[in-house]
Amino acid sequence: MSRKNYYDVIIIGAGSVGVPAALAMARRDVKVLVIDKFPSQGQGSNKTAIGGIRATHSDPAKIRICKRTLEIVSTWEKKYGHNIDWKKGGYVFVAYRKKEEKILKDLLKIQHKYGLNIDWYGKNDLLEIIPDLNSEGLIGGTFSPDDGHCSTILAGHAYYDAAKKAGCEFHFNERAEEIEVRNGGISSVKTDKNTYTTDVVLNAAGAWAKSVGKMVGIDIPVNPDSHEGGITEQVAEFLGPMVVDLRPAPGSESFYYFQLESGQIAFCITPDPRIWGFDRNETSIFLPMVSTRLVGLMPRLSNLRVRRTWRGLYPMTPDGSPLVGWAKKAKGFLLAAGMCGQGFMLGPGLGELLARMVTEDKLNPDDEEVLEVLSPYREFKGGEALK
Ligand SMILES: Cc1cc2nc3c(=O)[nH]c(=O)nc-3n(C[C@H](O)[C@H](O)[C@H](O)COP(=O)(O)OP(=O)(O)OC[C@H]3O[C@@H](n4cnc5c(N)ncnc54)[C@H](O)[C@@H]3O)c2cc1C
Repeated sequence: MSRKNYYDVIIIGAGSVGVPAALAMARRDVKVLVIDKFPSQGQGSNKTAIGGIRATHSDPAKIRICKRTLEIVSTWEKKYGHNIDWKKGGYVFVAYRKKEEKILKDLLKIQHKYGLNIDWYGKNDLLEIIPDLNSEGLIGGTFSPDDGHCSTILAGHAYYDAAKKAGCEFHFNERAEEIEVRNGGISSVKTDKNTYTTDVVLNAAGAWAKSVGKMVGIDIPVNPDSHEGGITEQVAEFLGPMVVDLRPAPGSESFYYFQLESGQIAFCITPDPRIWGFDRNETSIFLPMVSTRLVGLMPRLSNLRVRRTWRGLYPMTPDGSPLVGWAKKAKGFLLAAGMCGQGFMLGPGLGELLARMVTEDKLNPDDEEVLEVLSPYREFKGGEALK
């Protein structure tokens, strides 16, 4: 007997993860419904990301996933025709203190082991790559030329367009409210508008993942942590790579910025202490804090006018790494949450892994390794070195 309103997979969340996951699943002939409480895709955290995409990480799981994302985004326009403003400018992590020099040099071992094109550059060589860096006290830094960035808004629309063409159904302005579990397995999803039957639910609800977990009685350790971003006016190109400074300063941890294809500088900073909660209204403390650091690192930026700032949510986990895997308690409940500050860059590569998880009986050893590192049941110790 056919089940009413049946979908092979229901994805809760049309964001950085949910939309590319839907696309990857539909390409494998999975019948997918994506539900989002907002009026269109990408209205959660996706549109608030500044668009950095790097495989330069400190763990093999994120390195593998983001290497695949880089392949997807860098060939997207050629394959599918959408301009997503992709720019392969690379990433530079700068070191002005011995501490960051050691962290960055130590990480090269694992980064090289996983095949990343990244190296350490001394002061003068780094200044050739970014001539405008403040040279005072600069020791050097790493440069990974294959990383880059693209527009989160254009990419979000491109994935959505491709997912619809591949057969995915999207329901916007619709909130998932209950998930029914029968005989230990997922059986249906009830929203504020309808009820759908399914055997598989993907929790891609970003900063709201905890409330979706509660629907099946699981406590997911993801909490919203607000971060602000900003963008300047357009100027002629003078900066190739994304620049990341890991040093702390009063009120903040690391900060990062890059120049878009279209000439603006986009930037953001990690507040210290963290600002927990769902508030998405920008503050008056962000701009003075970040602009002081930007100009300190690159004095030339003092001539730029800021056009806009905004605030969004990092879906944070206790150790700064995502939670990906099947729930033990409710069969068919798949978790892809807690993307922290990297969901935009993880989304496309992770989407393909999620599609393999729902369609293949046995995964390849690389996928198994990724899932072990990102297991929702891991012990939370240590932290991400390159936030
Ligand atoms: C200032 C800033 C800069 C950033 N820069 C970068 C960057 O350069 N690179 C990078 O990779 N990442 C960056 N990020 C992080 C990135 O934005 C997030 O990690 C990512 O967007 C999270 O993706 P997601 O799919 O998990 O969540 P989202 O994109 O937020 O999607 C979750 C969706 O789930 C929906 N939802 C939740 N609950 C329900 C429900 N019950 N029913 C229906 N729908 C529901 C929400 O409406 C939302 O649309 C940045 C974030 C901020 C704030």
